[in-house]
Amino acid sequence: MKWWGWGPEDIEFSHEDKPDLAPFIADVLGIDVRNVTDAPIPFEDLRIPDPIMPADLRSALERAVRPTFVSSKPLDRIVHARGKSLRDLVRQRRGEFGRVPDAVVRPGSEDEVTTVLRAALAADAVIIPFGGGSSISGSLEAPAAETRPVISVDLERLDKVLEIDSASRLARVQAGVSGPHLEEQLAAQGYTLGHFPDSFTESTLGGWIATRSSGMQSDRYGDIADLTKGLRVVTPSGTLVTRPIPAMSTGPSIREMIFGSEGRLGIITEATVHVRRVPERRLILGYLFPTFTDGLAAMRDIAEGEGTVSVTRVSDAHETRFSFATRVNPTVVDRLQSRALRIFLKRRLGYGLDQMCLSFIGYEGSEAHVTQQRRLVGKLVKRHGGLCIGSGPGALYDQKKFDTPHIRDFLLNRGAPGDVSETAMPWSRLTVVYDAVTAAAAGAFADLGVQGYLMCHLSHSYHAGACLYFTFAFRPTPDGDMLSEYDVVKCAIQQAFVDNGATLSHHHAVGTEHARWLEQDVSAPGVAMLEALFNGTDPGRHLNPGKIV
Ligand SMILES: Cc1cc2nc3c(=O)[nH]c(=O)nc-3n(C[C@H](O)[C@H](O)[C@H](O)COP(=O)(O)OP(=O)(O)OC[C@H]3O[C@@H](n4cnc5c(N)ncnc54)[C@H](O)[C@@H]3O)c2cc1C
Repeated sequence: MKWWGWGPEDIEFSHEDKPDLAPFIADVLGIDVRNVTDAPIPFEDLRIPDPIMPADLRSALERAVRPTFVSSKPLDRIVHARGKSLRDLVRQRRGEFGRVPDAVVRPGSEDEVTTVLRAALAADAVIIPFGGGSSISGSLEAPAAETRPVISVDLERLDKVLEIDSASRLARVQAGVSGPHLEEQLAAQGYTLGHFPDSFTESTLGGWIATRSSGMQSDRYGDIADLTKGLRVVTPSGTLVTRPIPAMSTGPSIREMIFGSEGRLGIITEATVHVRRVPERRLILGYLFPTFTDGLAAMRDIAEGEGTVSVTRVSDAHETRFSFATRVNPTVVDRLQSRALRIFLKRRLGYGLDQMCLSFIGYEGSEAHVTQQRRLVGKLVKRHGGLCIGSGPGALYDQKKFDTPHIRDFLLNRGAPGDVSETAMPWSRLTVVYDAVTAAAAGAFADLGVQGYLMCHLSHSYHAGACLYFTFAFRPTPDGDMLSEYDVVKCAIQQAFVDNGATLSHHHAVGTEHARWLEQDVSAPGVAMLEALFNGTDPGRHLNPGKIV
């Protein structure tokens, strides 16, 4: 994993195979992509603070997991120091480190996790569970003022599907398994979890649970909180076990308390998750809508109707423009076809082309189910002026979806911050929130005097509401501090969420990035309950202190 960016060292985002991207970025951000101005500083030039590791603690850890699995190597410590939020990336790239973990420990069993936690508690050390390190909310960094030894517990060795109860469709899975490795093991027995966040390749089951993650196909499969039925969590007072019962009336849900707990209640070692048979057919179709409002109304009708689709996604006009700009090597025929389509949309259907919105709807199941759902959805789409443009764009989107996160590094290399903020709200608030966020971002760009771009898509639908996912980027002022300017934009967007009846995050968690909005979201008594829960479970504040509250 890159210590300064997204994904493995050998994968990079490039504009060269996307001929429309450079002109698009020049237009909306005023940046010439040929000029790489801000490369990360070389690893050899980093000034990495020395580890604080009492000899007794080190030997206790080495006894717990064997010496090979206790690392104080500089690269290991730096990779585990933070996640992948914009603030994390900018500071890593500049070589500005806070409290770097003193050791990275990799236990290979639940017993080893227990022994590591006991050793840490006995030595008054801090434990930060580490999954894939893809946190985007500042959930992995130790507080800057932490004076106790800090141990990052990387769960990567706990990566097995242990058993599948096929009658109940329940799989017992170790928490450190990465998305691709989990799906590989399930597919070998004909199953899928169906959880595909954009960070799928770089994240783990335990991390998904600890952040209340949501995947692209959540409309069919549910969010990770719906999919997770049972848990094993190593806590300071022993191993917490919640049994995989479909529904229970046993007081406030302990299982729910673990979802989104960001390592503050213990280390998740295992989960029992609901799996399904790999579908016979999987299809993502592209659609166009005259406006974003039409697209949103169609998604609401689909969510409220009898349809059971797997993906509902509709981009606003700005994101639609971006999507067209990232087309890979369009041929002359592609260009002619899209020109003909534009003429048809404008002349025959009366679309205003600068308002037009791209949408993807996914279908999964038997051939018959997919055919029936397509028909049902087709009628709803038509009612809102939409047009199906076939499976080509959907297939392309499906192939490329895990590449998009690399674009943040591409922009940072050119001196521009780009990031995301996502939220959820009832259907009745969707356009209110969208308009408020658009105005807030425009106001922030104007206050800073910078050229910026904001785009949005609806990414997950429920009967009662949906998730809106905003992406923004801007060209910072030549003499300003990029992170302070980033804060102005990010805060304006987040504040517009909570001021307009939306949540601070639908699936990216709280961490430290969103903690300042928690009270406005869940009320002061809600924050007090969370504090009591964390303090009661972990009175010494040894488990990932400073996150959420
Ligand atoms: C480019 C990008 C795209 C993203 N797309 C999505 C998306 O589509 N959907 C989505 O939901 N999220 C997304 N995220 C956010 C991130 O991937 C999720 O929060 C993910 O669930 C984190 O999993 P991880 O394994 O990487 O956990 P980490 O980042 O390692 O850890 C996250 C938090 O969980 C805790 N934790 C990790 N493992 C355990 C464990 N076993 N026990 C206890 N605590 C643990 C950590 O201490 C930390 O507090 C995205 C992030 C990025 C950077």
